[in-house]
Amino acid sequence: MKTSIATVSISGDFVEKLSAIAAAGFNGIEIFENDFLAFDGSPRDVGRMVRDSGLTITLFQPFRDFEGLPEPQRSRAFDRAERKFDVMQELGTDLMLICSNVSPVALGGIDRAANDFHELGERAAKRGLRVGYEALAWGKHIHDHRDAWEIVRRADHPNVGLILDSFHTLARRINVESIRAIPRDKIFIVQLADAPLIDMDYLYWSRHFRCMPGQGDLPVKDFMSAVAATGYDGFLSLEIFNDQFRGGSPKSIALDGRRSLIYLADQIAREAPALASKPADIPDRIGVSGIEFVEFAANEAEAAELASLFHTLGFRRAGRHVSKDVTLFRQGDINLVINTEREGFAHSSYLVHGTSACAMGLKVEDAKATVARAKALGAEPFEQAVGPGELTIPAIRGVGGGVIYFIDQKPPLARVWDLEFVPVEDADPPFDAGLKRIDHLGQTMNYEEMLTWLLFYVSIFRTHKTPMVDVIDPGGVVRSQAIETDDAAMRLTLNGAENHRTLAGHFIAESFGASVQHLAFATNDIFATASVLRANGFRALKMSQNYYDDIEARFGLDGELTGRLRAENILYDRDQQGEYFQQYCPTYGEGFIFEIVERRGPYRGYGAPNASFRIAAQKRELRSASELEL
Ligand code: MG
Ligand code: MG
Repeated sequence: MKTSIATVSISGDFVEKLSAIAAAGFNGIEIFENDFLAFDGSPRDVGRMVRDSGLTITLFQPFRDFEGLPEPQRSRAFDRAERKFDVMQELGTDLMLICSNVSPVALGGIDRAANDFHELGERAAKRGLRVGYEALAWGKHIHDHRDAWEIVRRADHPNVGLILDSFHTLARRINVESIRAIPRDKIFIVQLADAPLIDMDYLYWSRHFRCMPGQGDLPVKDFMSAVAATGYDGFLSLEIFNDQFRGGSPKSIALDGRRSLIYLADQIAREAPALASKPADIPDRIGVSGIEFVEFAANEAEAAELASLFHTLGFRRAGRHVSKDVTLFRQGDINLVINTEREGFAHSSYLVHGTSACAMGLKVEDAKATVARAKALGAEPFEQAVGPGELTIPAIRGVGGGVIYFIDQKPPLARVWDLEFVPVEDADPPFDAGLKRIDHLGQTMNYEEMLTWLLFYVSIFRTHKTPMVDVIDPGGVVRSQAIETDDAAMRLTLNGAENHRTLAGHFIAESFGASVQHLAFATNDIFATASVLRANGFRALKMSQNYYDDIEARFGLDGELTGRLRAENILYDRDQQGEYFQQYCPTYGEGFIFEIVERRGPYRGYGAPNASFRIAAQKRELRSASELEL
């Protein structure tokens, strides 16, 4: 697979872009004219820099408003093209992208446009150059790749070909099957972009909301299958206009781009092996059957505080690590560990973020295969020195720098708890509160980074994303989206904070970028759990009385149920499939959230309608605990 990316897709100056693109492993770049014009160096210098970075210039773009013009605009367009040909020869690239005319004076007419392209093909051929024609979704006369192809076909010139761009085809919902009939040697390059489904003007949508394949909602995979059917094996080039990416880290956006293309090619190779240029050579997306453990890094004083919170939640002290200062707490299938070591990853994480959840362990089919897939998709494997009696647990770095461990049911990993931990008797065990498993784990990040996280999880693991919802915090909007396995055995919620006045934004700022902010434990009977928790000394987050008056009216609940919810500060939600009950702990530390949930029936959400009331209650408590400006 030959991969390329347009310079317009990432932030930075030309030199920064080039080094990020080369470092991410791309083979080529599209030079977007503005990036080139802003650079203070000759076209020859630019060409040399690109080649010195080990990259090819896949094309020069955009050349606009060329075909179908009346005179004198027509002659001027040819003159402009000749000047750009000069630049291309100095740059050292042979392909020019011409996008369909949007000029109000363009006349239209398939044959008129074909004649123009034939003549331009003659001129390009004299210089050993080629021109590719792309239908913009908002082109004045040509806005469909089928019409662009008909123009290229009638132009009938070896130096004139078609450029396909998934955004333009998919935005207009044009049937991608029509691509299969195009001869592969007439497709000069394929540009790829995804986008969220938003009903808006094509031009605005394209210039601001494009994203990497797999990050949006367009059927880019179907588009790519149709391209693959032609036998096309040229460059796959990302052309992404996105407001967040323009402000993001060039390095991380370039890595996302490379990841998206590897993932796309992997899906084609797997789902349509006959169409792929080569078979899939990495393990398939990894199934996850749950969250095996969450690890907290703390100092000793804070560890004691956290342990007593776990105690009130019904977790008993169950094990002591064979060689390290690590304690295991357990209830149902939930394993929580607190690490107070003075060296190693947990300690360095503690130094940066303070007390925080620094790692999670996922239950997978094959831990080694998981790392192999993650590595192939550009994730960083994680290893640290193991002490006596310790297992090497396959692991990678998560997006925010946390560690994700993988536990499978093969020896010796299947016995990790028995091998690494000595059982301990809790001298003062709490009452078991009936918490069975981790329902979901919430991670918080800056909104700009959300798509990076999403692609990371969806490309490595057999998961899907749910639609994004807005959570209204009194301090601003937090965007929330979940990553789930089909059977919901693993649920992760991603919360993108737009500012630091929200509870999520405050957490990121105060924990210096810690990512895990939220742990929800599942019970089968939240009222029974609530009464045990009270006996353990647990105090639930206090909800407002108005909240209960509202849900009673909104859902038509009977007064007896509302009374029980009110008495235990339990929140309630309902969808077509089922009911959801939630009880919150007052926030811990800088806004860490423990929550208890019960799902009755196949309720698929996360209580989003309750979020703003819950956040207001949490902020009230935080404010009274300290004089925080929230
Ligand atoms: Mg394009
Ligand atoms: Mg939750």
